[in-house]
Amino acid sequence: MEILLVSVIAFAIICGIIYWFDKNKEKLIKKFKIEKKEIMKCPVCFKEYDDLKLKECSHCNSYLEKTTKYIFSQKLKKRIASILFIVIIIVLIIIGVYYGISKYIEEKERQEKYNNDISTCYDLIKNKSDYEEFSDIIKNHKDEENFEGDAYNQLYKAIDERVENIKNGNEDKELINMLSDIKFSTIYDDEDMKNYIDEKYLLAQSYSNLNSANKYIESGSYKEAFDLLQQVISNNKDKNQEIVDIATNKQNEIKDKAFEQIINEAQTQINNQDYSSAQKTLENYKDLGNQTILDMYNNATNEVNRIEAERKAKEAEEERQRKQAEIDAKKDQLTINKNGKKIWKVCMTGNTFRFQATYRGSGNFIVKLLDSNQDLEELIVNEIGDYNVDKTVRVNKGEYYYIETYVSNGSWNGSWWGTYGD
Ligand SMILES: [Zn+2]
Repeated sequence: MEILLVSVIAFAIICGIIYWFDKNKEKLIKKFKIEKKEIMKCPVCFKEYDDLKLKECSHCNSYLEKTTKYIFSQKLKKRIASILFIVIIIVLIIIGVYYGISKYIEEKERQEKYNNDISTCYDLIKNKSDYEEFSDIIKNHKDEENFEGDAYNQLYKAIDERVENIKNGNEDKELINMLSDIKFSTIYDDEDMKNYIDEKYLLAQSYSNLNSANKYIESGSYKEAFDLLQQVISNNKDKNQEIVDIATNKQNEIKDKAFEQIINEAQTQINNQDYSSAQKTLENYKDLGNQTILDMYNNATNEVNRIEAERKAKEAEEERQRKQAEIDAKKDQLTINKNGKKIWKVCMTGNTFRFQATYRGSGNFIVKLLDSNQDLEELIVNEIGDYNVDKTVRVNKGEYYYIETYVSNGSWNGSWWGTYGD
């Protein structure tokens, strides 16, 4: 854009100069005592001839044209040459100076933006907890070699200051949230950076928990304080001995009061016969050397086991009864017994059914097997007078059938196989 503007201006100035020269041609000729001379000139090879009568170029045989030639004095030529030389030098100097100044301004602006963005990076981490914006700024400077490193130094500085602030007893949940976001959302290509964030996250959280534990102690909630300190100790084990020591000392200071609260809480639960809650309350403290807690825990555990065993026994008994009822429902069931006719509802245990009987008398003896719809499945016997029957028929396992017997002027004796029986 700038180049275009400069070109247009230069073009306009050149046009102006040409126009001015053209307008003042005669005056200039007079002033600088330039001689005018008519000559013949070849338009093709530009050879000049003083002889005005000549028509053709002796060189290329083209037709010559008449033209005016301006003859500059030697002195004027020198003056023009020196003016031109000076003008070119001036133009070169102007271009050089312009280029130098614009480069200088550009560099200065870049430097200013660099410094501004670096201090913005510090501000974003220190005061705004905005790691996302911080990353965007780094992306904008990805062509500048040192920027990322400088920006991360600001991040380290800001985080260190904020961790120190928590260590001094002040709340800073935003820092912990920001570190957690960085920890879980960033794909690190730098192991040191990952370790740094992990370390600061743990420190910030641990100091914050120590502060919370102090608040619990102030308000008399010793059990909560004890638990929180325990968490701090296990999180920092083999990592930050200083924090482990602080938490352990504090835990020892409140141990007795915390145990008293735990015992009271568990006792209330035991009194309410809520043994499993009592067991949970005591579980984490049973191995810390307090005999009362251990005894209570063992008692609560025994109760929980006893109740569980009772519940299981009850469940097993219920299951047994349910299964028995299922079997009972399948047992042979005499539904009709009237005027020599008997009907049993039965359920088949397998795929065959065998009926065996002896009839003694002079009347009718009829036995039918009916399906669950009470339609005839098989006529087993239909005889008059003494008769022995032993017949096996195919049936469907698990399905219900009806056995119908009819007898007149006599009696029958027998039994069948393949049902659940009496
Ligand atoms: Zn010629």
